[in-house]
Amino acid sequence: MVILHASSEVYPLSRSGGLADVLGVLPAAQRQVGADQVFTVSPWYGSLQGQPELLGEFGSAGEVFRLGRVELAGVIHLLIGGRMFEGADLYGYRDDVWRFVQFDLAVIAALQVAGLRPDVVHAHDWATGLLPALLRYGPEANRLGSAKLVYTIHNLNYQGRWNLEEVRSWSGLPAELFGPDGLEFYGDANLMKAGIRWADLVTTVSPTYAREITTPERGEGLDGMLRQVRDAGRLVGILNGLDQQRWDPAHDPYASFQSLTERAQRSAELRAALRLDRRPILSMVTRIAEQKGIDLVLAAAERLSERWNLVLLGSGDPGMEAQLSELARSGLLTYRSGIDEALAHRIYAGSDAFLMPSHFEPCGLSQMIAQRYGCLPVVRRTGGLIDTVSPDIGFLFDRPEPEALLAATDRAADLLGSRDWKRRVRAAMRLDWSWEGPARAYLERYAALRPS
Ligand code: ADP
Repeated sequence: MVILHASSEVYPLSRSGGLADVLGVLPAAQRQVGADQVFTVSPWYGSLQGQPELLGEFGSAGEVFRLGRVELAGVIHLLIGGRMFEGADLYGYRDDVWRFVQFDLAVIAALQVAGLRPDVVHAHDWATGLLPALLRYGPEANRLGSAKLVYTIHNLNYQGRWNLEEVRSWSGLPAELFGPDGLEFYGDANLMKAGIRWADLVTTVSPTYAREITTPERGEGLDGMLRQVRDAGRLVGILNGLDQQRWDPAHDPYASFQSLTERAQRSAELRAALRLDRRPILSMVTRIAEQKGIDLVLAAAERLSERWNLVLLGSGDPGMEAQLSELARSGLLTYRSGIDEALAHRIYAGSDAFLMPSHFEPCGLSQMIAQRYGCLPVVRRTGGLIDTVSPDIGFLFDRPEPEALLAATDRAADLLGSRDWKRRVRAAMRLDWSWEGPARAYLERYAALRPS
């Protein structure tokens, strides 16, 4: 079986969040459990980490692209460069939808240039949402054989919407695909809707999120289509794993420990580095976004500070960042803005508890990392957090309100230092987040599909 994953980010080549982390491990795990060849294809950004070998240049839809290649851990990563990826940032440009429509078209052309005929094309999130439609109905569809088409929703809230007529003319797809049963969404084109509509199989990153996205509350306007997909047996939730080598406390390059005594030293170092006092440490390492429940943290910060050193590392929404900086100046919390891999590791290794009050959470990786590092999670009962945090180990709360959050952090604070706390820490560190099971689950699902 030859598999091609298409994604806008693949760790360690490019990364803005959890999507890249999944693409950094799932392909190699699939090889280990029996896939013959696994490729990824992703953008050759101006800020790409690593030096691809240049395979050649090719043209498509009036644009010139370059095709590069990097091999890591037995997986061949193809990279597509062009005018749309000259900037340093992955996203955030006014023409993001145009950029990724170009990318999806270039992927189709690159398959021909590279002579690659995958059995499965697995697209991820809105940026590659057009691929299933292009492979079925695009100008080159006939020449590409009949790959099975799989589409994974990592976050339903980013859908890739743009003017319908423009997307139609850029894509070269037939006009009849742009109706309400197809790409059209409230008058716009919607790339994620296209991925859901034309994939043979739609997956998402946890069983609970797979259920939630079929409801009006969490369906982001696509719940009707997702219920149809579910009823046709085409929707499945497969829980993400964790890169347990990258996140291995015994061999961590920034903050390693082999025992709880050594862990206490990492805590002392974190305390010294961030000038914290003797209160226990409650941390977040997160995108600063509405999704992550930063509003709840801002509202609860003062009362949280009565019992905890609250530490936040993250970047994102400028308004929320400014509010966090303001609270940091008044001494209620410690806030580090920006992306800092080393500090992230030190926080997981040195904190007592990890806070994730997300309004919604497709899967979430941070709570898995935290548990592996003996840092007990306090999380909202939603999405993948339900599937990964047991009440025997962590602390869960329901309502997205500061009082509910505080009740959960209080329960944690009351237990700190107790025998029960130590039991929870040991149990958390023994949990297995291996990708082997999920990698097998994907292969089994691929095998059960008939080519479209
Ligand atoms: P997301 O919704 O952002 O994908 P996840 O919990 O799935 O959330 O993954 C977040 C990952 O990004 C975790 O590994 C976390 O440690 C990391 N991360 C988030 N913010 C930062 C930051 N500012 N610096 C370093 N790592 C970060």
